[in-house]
Amino acid sequence: MAKPFASGERIHLVRKGRTYPLLLLENGCFRFSGETLQHNDLIGREDGTEIALSRGTRLFALRPTRSEYVLHMPRGAQILYPKDLALILTWADIYSGATVVEAGIGSGALTLALLTAVGTSGRVISYEIRNDFAKRAIENIGSYLGGDAENDLPHLCLRLEDIYEGIRETSVDRLVLDLPEPYRVVPHAARALRSGGIFLSFLPTVPQVERVVAALRKEPAFEWIETFETLLRTWNIDGLSVRPDHRMIAHSGFITTARRVTRLP
Ligand code: SAH
Repeated sequence: MAKPFASGERIHLVRKGRTYPLLLLENGCFRFSGETLQHNDLIGREDGTEIALSRGTRLFALRPTRSEYVLHMPRGAQILYPKDLALILTWADIYSGATVVEAGIGSGALTLALLTAVGTSGRVISYEIRNDFAKRAIENIGSYLGGDAENDLPHLCLRLEDIYEGIRETSVDRLVLDLPEPYRVVPHAARALRSGGIFLSFLPTVPQVERVVAALRKEPAFEWIETFETLLRTWNIDGLSVRPDHRMIAHSGFITTARRVTRLP
């Protein structure tokens, strides 16, 4: 059974498609258009419960999914969208127990997805050059996973270093890059990844993709270099109006993958 809401937990109150994030605190009070709700009336309740405010307005109280959480968490850097996170996990083949290097940590959306996928037997090593972003990301990740300091995240190792300068780790299973110049990481990637390991980069523009593909082709350690984009189009299903929604995220980025190989001498 799902556990009931507890003090210190971040939940979402949802009404008419709008989401109001809330940090549950004993004796706290939520205010909404002149109405109130005591946090104590939510603590101990079940995920998905409908609740009424002081003058009768109803909302649903939900424990956010990982996607809902990352879309509403405080941001420093731009986050990767859930549609891209989903594909990255599969195309980089992130598995339970894997050692994954990523850069940069940004707001922590990708890191959170990677940590969930590698599980308690895996490790995520995250390179980031901006201290302020790293701090925010760690807070975001900790508050979702139920800790609030780096010490509480034993499967995450933060490196406040420039990954263009090098990767300290070796025998890495997967390398996932969400930063502007991944081509500068390709020579380091060839040394850090184990044979059979996977390189993945996410990039918003075509000239960047051309450069990363050129760098991967130049490096004999890489094979099966592939690039694709992702489009997610939601639909309106309402009576006779069955059609794609008018608005969509038309562009986020291109995903490029490559496999680290060992060739005959
Ligand atoms: N994937 C993240 C967003 C990353 S934004 C998320 O889902 O939230 C890109 C990040 O890369 C920024 O935080 C930026 O500071 C960092 N970055 C840029 N160049 C870098 C470098 N050379 N080494 C390490 N981090 C870098």
